Amino acid sequence: MGKKIYDSVSVLPSVGQKRQEALNQLGVFTILDLLSHFPFRYEDIQEKNLLEIEDQEKVTLKGNVVSEAVVSRFGPKKNRLSFRLIIEHAVISITFFNQSYLKNKIVLGEELAVFGKWDAKRKSLTGIKILGTSSGDSTNDFESIYKANKGIKQKTIFELVKKAYQNYHELIPENVPNELKEKYRLISHNEAVYGMHFPTSQEQSKQARREVIFEEFLLYQLKLQSLRKKQKAAGYGLQIKYDVKDLRRFIASLPFELTKAQKRVVNEICTDLKEPMHMHRLLQGDVGSGKTIVAAIALFATANAKYQSALMVPTEILAEQHMESLSQLFDPLEVRIALLTGSTKVKERRIILEELENGQLDIIIGTHALIQKDVYFSRLGLVITDEQHRFGVNQRKILRDKGKEPDVLFMTATPIPRTLAITTYGEMDVSIIDELPAGRIPIETTWTRPKNFELTLEFMERQLRLGSQAYVICPLIEESETLDVKNATDIYEKLSAYYATRYQVGLLHGKMKSAEKEQVMHQFKENKLAVLVSTTVIEVGVNVPNATTMVIYDADRFGLSQLHQLRGRVGRGHKESYCILVANPKSETGIERMKIMTETLDGFVLSEKDLELRGAGDLFGSKQSGLPNFKVGDIIGDFGALEAARQEATELVNNPKFMIDPKYSQLRKSLGLEQLSEQNFN
Ligand code: ADP
Ligand code: MG
Repeated sequence: MGKKIYDSVSVLPSVGQKRQEALNQLGVFTILDLLSHFPFRYEDIQEKNLLEIEDQEKVTLKGNVVSEAVVSRFGPKKNRLSFRLIIEHAVISITFFNQSYLKNKIVLGEELAVFGKWDAKRKSLTGIKILGTSSGDSTNDFESIYKANKGIKQKTIFELVKKAYQNYHELIPENVPNELKEKYRLISHNEAVYGMHFPTSQEQSKQARREVIFEEFLLYQLKLQSLRKKQKAAGYGLQIKYDVKDLRRFIASLPFELTKAQKRVVNEICTDLKEPMHMHRLLQGDVGSGKTIVAAIALFATANAKYQSALMVPTEILAEQHMESLSQLFDPLEVRIALLTGSTKVKERRIILEELENGQLDIIIGTHALIQKDVYFSRLGLVITDEQHRFGVNQRKILRDKGKEPDVLFMTATPIPRTLAITTYGEMDVSIIDELPAGRIPIETTWTRPKNFELTLEFMERQLRLGSQAYVICPLIEESETLDVKNATDIYEKLSAYYATRYQVGLLHGKMKSAEKEQVMHQFKENKLAVLVSTTVIEVGVNVPNATTMVIYDADRFGLSQLHQLRGRVGRGHKESYCILVANPKSETGIERMKIMTETLDGFVLSEKDLELRGAGDLFGSKQSGLPNFKVGDIIGDFGALEAARQEATELVNNPKFMIDPKYSQLRKSLGLEQLSEQNFN
């Protein structure tokens, strides 16, 4: 039997057990994996935009020499060599001190890479060394740097890749169909793999990257979309047969009329529930748009059809709040509902688990406590996750797996820019509530410098005098919850002193015990505390309509979407509400961000801005965003490719020939849609 690209890496001569294990840890199992283990950077290619380089950072810049090198002498033994390079469209000056001997390496019009220290203000580089020219031996200019680990050095990886390429390159699968290769002018994957590992010019590396990214995105989109297509096929999912009349009656009994947008999404969701297909739906709605009631309707429908449902939320406070409002709706209807969190007492927990398992409970609301091993359902029909971006993909999957293909609804108040949503969540249907309940008074947002904090406190006091309540959110210290707490405590003390006996101030932070947090939150809800000083633990979901003022300290440390979430804690009642951003931003973007906050209340606009100004990681606030991790592609930077791949994938999965035409055979194999058979594989 001949060699195969799916051979284990252990077939390579110098890979023994130890190296194999080390490679496995890096996700490299087969020869193809190894060849797809691309360098995460190249020693000497400066991929950064000039504007992004930090002042005094050591970098390598590559460009064309556009001026003769001039040596000038100063002092008895000192000299300075200067010349200019053009990089992209910028001309920068480069100076070497006391290395005048480099002069003959600098040839007008030739490409040159220089390693040195960047001066951001002067847009100049103080040279440390010259890394070679295009005419010289250039292989070293582009040394590939690999992700490695304790068991294997990155130099070894490079050697193995070289060997694997030599022996197997003719077996590298070409997944992107020829018609798309031509359409997007992509090189072959074989060439691209070479260009990724062993580039000799920036152009080559760029072309390689283009192909690799397109392939990566195309495979991803095809996977999502063919999965979705399969799930949509009738007969795959549960049929939740609720009684339409009962559901209508329930909706009519709600304390308010649903908005048009709410009615639309309720229809979309309930249709999904009823159909024998599997629901996989993302419900997006700005803060305060009324997602909870939509969830309640879905929960009711499910209980009505004698299925169980679970509502998972990221914090205990939120879970309790949902429990409170949902019990009000469900208790009179004999829909049995319970709350399960980390602080549920052992005995109570045991009863709840029993009732879940024997089907006595209809609805369970909870935090991560719901995904513990010993939680079993009798007939789980619907899983809802609120603020879904707070959960990792795995956590959501664990809950889902507690049933047999239950319908799934994700809710989020972090509006994902539309384009990004359809592209990255290609496997989901998306419902959008794009309208706020009538009668909301827009929140007035202002931005003030910290030196005006007294004025802010006075303003707050005027609101407190009207019987309203206020939140004060404390600075966020990245990486240090302890510092967050210290800050919150400081501000709490300041405010307590300022309002003295006139108003009660409460403190809430992440290091407090759940019971303490709950108590403080209760006091605030019952208006026993006028002011609540808090870290961002209240960020999501908290609903206290009597609170009308939101003060956010050090607001420039937060992402726009996060600020918007925080601001959404006020403006929930019928009183005029205010959001005051206290910040001293230094940078242009910092100032711009504060201004945008004062100008718009539209979460979609803000998330798009956020994406533009800070990137996707910040938009979702954590690595667990559920956004896919691509090896090479970047969903923001390579968005054009992602979008193109999505469109092509849609065409392919809907093309009846896709499953039969031999020209898509390789693609089908890579997607696991076709058996890998000995005879015809490669
Ligand atoms: P979010 O989408 O941020 O989770 P909530 O579900 O907490 O929003 O709803 C915010 C507030 O609006 C709640 O007090 C809720 O009772 C109220 N609400 C929801 N829908 C409507 C509606 N159609 N008319 C009036 N008030 C509504
Ligand atoms: Mg909510």
